[in-house]
Formats: sequence, C-alpha cells, structure tokens
Amino acid sequence: MDLKKNGGKLILSSRVKTINFNKNLATGITLNNGSSYSCESVVTNTDVWNLKKLIPNEISKKWNTKALNPNKCDSFLHIHLGFDADGLENLPIHAIHVDEWEKGITAERNIAVFSIPSVLDKNMAPEGKHVLHGYTPANEPWEIWENLNPKGLEYRNLKEERCSIFLNAVRKFIPDIDERIDLKMLGTPTTHKKFTNTYCGSYGPALSAAKGLFPGCKTPVKNLFTCGASTFPGIGIPAVSASGAYAAEKIIGKKEFKTLLKKINL
Ligand SMILES: Cc1cc2nc3c(=O)[nH]c(=O)nc-3n(C[C@H](O)[C@H](O)[C@H](O)COP(=O)(O)OP(=O)(O)OC[C@H]3O[C@@H](n4cnc5c(N)ncnc54)[C@H](O)[C@@H]3O)c2cc1C
Repeated sequence: MDLKKNGGKLILSSRVKTINFNKNLATGITLNNGSSYSCESVVTNTDVWNLKKLIPNEISKKWNTKALNPNKCDSFLHIHLGFDADGLENLPIHAIHVDEWEKGITAERNIAVFSIPSVLDKNMAPEGKHVLHGYTPANEPWEIWENLNPKGLEYRNLKEERCSIFLNAVRKFIPDIDERIDLKMLGTPTTHKKFTNTYCGSYGPALSAAKGLFPGCKTPVKNLFTCGASTFPGIGIPAVSASGAYAAEKIIGKKEFKTLLKKINL
C-alpha cells in the first residue's frame, strides 16, 4: 500500500479530541484515548461545526464568525432491506421515486432514492437475496428528532411513520415486497448523526452557489488546512476529493503537486 510505503499510518476508530497549537501554529492532534501525534501540518475533513469543537477559543476567534456558523442542510431518512430475490427480473440498480414534481427536492418526504447493489453484483447479498438502500435526499428536518429518545416509543413510532415513504415507493416496483423482507433497518437524522459524526446529521453547509463560494482549504492558521464537504468546491465525492487535493497542493507546493499528478496520469 502506497500510504505505508511512504511512511504513512492509517489509524481507524480513533476520535480526535483536540487539534493542538503552539501560539499560532498547529502542532498536532490528541485523540480521545489520550495519545498525541505531532506533525508539520494538520488537514481536517470534519464538518465545520465539528472543527469548531476541536480548536480552542483563542484560535477560533481568528475565523470570520459567519464562516464557522453557516446555515445547515437538512438530514436524511434511511432504509436498508434484505429481501427474497426469487422470481424478481429486471429490477433497477437505481430508482428514484418522486411524489409531486412541483414540490422539488427540498420538500420533506417527497423524494426517495433507491439502490439495489446486488442487481449489479450478486456477491453483495447471500444467494437468492437482494439488498436495498433507500434515502430521502437531505430534506429531513433535524428539529423533529433532536429531543426524542431513540429508545422511546415516540421515536420508534415516528420512525415507522416517516420512513413509510420508502415501502410505499418500493411496492410500486416490487408489489409483494412486504412478504419478501428478511431484514429491515430504518434510520433517522439521529442515526445519520451517530454513524457519520456529522452535526445534526446534516448533509453539510447550506451555501448557495448563487450567493458565493464555499471557503477554501486555507484557514487563519498557516499550517491548518480543511477539506471535505464544508470546503470549496463543496458537497459530493468529486468535490471533496478536489478539496483534499487542494489541501495537498498547499502543503507540498505547486511544482511537487504537478509531478505527483503526472505520476498518476492526471
Ligand atoms: C445518503 C447520501 C447519499 C449521497 N450520495 C452522493 C452521491 O451519489 N454522489 C456524491 O458525489 N456525493 C453523495 N453524497 C455526499 C458525499 O457522500 C459527501 O459529501 C462526502 O462523503 C463528504 O465527505 P467528507 O470527507 O467531507 O466527510 P465524511 O465522509 O463524512 O468524512 C468525515 C469523517 O470524519 C469523521 N470525524 C468527525 N469528527 C471526528 C473526530 N473528532 N475525530 C475523528 N474523526 C472524526 C467522521 O466519522 C467521518 O468519517 C451523499 C451523501 C449521503 C449522506
């Protein structure tokens, strides 16, 4: 693996507690388990709200207040299904259900997006079964969920009710889906927050392209860089990859960066 060959180390399941500073320079990070790592530059891809928690107040004061407190996009409902594949021909790999086109993508529970990866690759599910993931695209308000106890009846009932959008839509292309289900897992903004560590389970900062750009990867601290969905060019896999590359370029310099791009034929 190139990361290891070049002296890198990947440490998983380790929460960063703080980014450490000496005066105005970042000196490394400390994990929740107490271990510390020092380095010449720190690059973080947490969302902007989590970044704020990782840096001391005297450092965050250097940021423009608005930049650390953007409006947030809404969150998600999810469904994961495991179901009997017997006799199901020509299932779509992807499907999008739209209730009312006029309402658009930001309306609550109006659109559901589905993927059935086992249609593409049988190894994604046990023999004779399919797996399906569905989600509502960043239009589920956090505020409905934030004060509910995930172990409580109110939460569970609301979860079933709000997530009914999924099976209602799946029944349109698999009419007997209810009899086929072996496994059903529903997710709410609370689930999304828990598993992605995002602020309020949000998709990311709600910054309109019509009104300006996302902040770039440089920060008021010379050797602290950001990348990911809170950084220019914004949300989405291609965008976050680009911001990671921008941060790398800022650290190693344009010339070295160009050499690396050539090495990977870009
Ligand atoms: C349901 C869904 C569907 C999507 N579909 C698409 C799509 O089809 N195409 C597309 O381009 N984009 C899609 N996106 C958007 C895309 O997935 C995200 O914009 C992108 O993954 C964000 O990458 P990131 O590196 O900024 O954040 P993440 O991938 O969220 O990475 C941030 C990481 O930081 C970790 N973290 C947070 N705090 C700490 C801490 N204190 N210490 C250590 N680690 C921490 C988190 O656990 C997380 O692993 C989708 C997103 C969702 C939720």
